[in-house]
Amino acid sequence: MIKTTILDASTDNIIYCADLLKNGEVVAMPTETVYGLAANIFNDKAVSKIFEIKGRPQDNPLICHISNISMLDELTIDLHSEIFQKLIEKFWPGPLTVIVPRNKKVSNLITANLDTVAIRFPSHIVSRKLIEACGFPLAAPSANLSGKPSPTSANHVFYDLNGRIKAILDGGICEVGLESTIVKIEDDSLRVLRPGIISVDMLKEVTENIVLDDSVLNQIDPNSTVISPGTKYKHYSPNADIVLVDSSLDDFRTYVSDKLKENVWCAVFDGEQKCFDKNVLTFGYNEKDQAHNIFMVLRKFDELGASKVFFRCPKKENIGLAVYNRLLRAAAFNLVVL
Ligand code: AMP
Ligand code: MG
Repeated sequence: MIKTTILDASTDNIIYCADLLKNGEVVAMPTETVYGLAANIFNDKAVSKIFEIKGRPQDNPLICHISNISMLDELTIDLHSEIFQKLIEKFWPGPLTVIVPRNKKVSNLITANLDTVAIRFPSHIVSRKLIEACGFPLAAPSANLSGKPSPTSANHVFYDLNGRIKAILDGGICEVGLESTIVKIEDDSLRVLRPGIISVDMLKEVTENIVLDDSVLNQIDPNSTVISPGTKYKHYSPNADIVLVDSSLDDFRTYVSDKLKENVWCAVFDGEQKCFDKNVLTFGYNEKDQAHNIFMVLRKFDELGASKVFFRCPKKENIGLAVYNRLLRAAAFNLVVL
């Protein structure tokens, strides 16, 4: 078994991790969204370790992380579209992933044989320093076991991947707490494949032509061909069964009141917990807090040994849409509307 060490993000440790990555190893790194499991995008053997370690299906493509704009040359052939330039100017570095036509230098393992590639320029200083020290972009899906809630602290990564990787760079708790917004450029419009804290309203400052992909709010048949393969898979699931309850607080309280016992819990917005005398956790006041907390709270329910959790339904617009999208998947689309 490999010994897994959590390392503080000193310059020496960043250089040590860059050396591991140059030697074809994988390393967990902090980003502002969630922790990523990183490998050299130009080393197929290293990239294939990501799939093995996570238990990730091979047809789920990876996001390439860069630390300066000149790295784009090796990744895409479409540097100059006006809409891409505007997205870069407005949102990079930051929690936005952009899907563009790929450069042939990017392997099929990264893109899952698609003719496009997903690119992100993270704002977290530790990931940027690490990529810079490597000199090549890093493929980095979330550093969790596939299907589990994404990790937002070094300890979460350790819990899932202890014994499978050598190093976890500790950059503290992730500021955003949810994965990046993913958009695909389609001529002069943008298709949102995954909502995040860069909301549809914010994207509208770049173009009014925005399409929300069907997979954002609907369950996708695993045998179908989809634009964003990751949307087919079970996601973000703690051990407990999650039920998402779309209702007023009063109706929620009535619905769960005789159900909360032993390992059955509920998750409500900050300030609402006083309505419940037991088995309650909160997951934030406004949508931004909820985004920050949601994966942490899902993992907390595992620690508590919860077998079932009823969740209050977040707002379905702006950042709330991203939280709703993750909770729908955590609940395997088990949505109760009262
Ligand atoms: P993760 O790395 O787990 O945050 O997931 C990355 C997501 O990006 C997956 O859901 C993929 O389906 C999506 N993705 C990556 N590359 C592409 C691409 N070329 N086209 C469409 N979606 C992509
Ligand atoms: Mg993931």
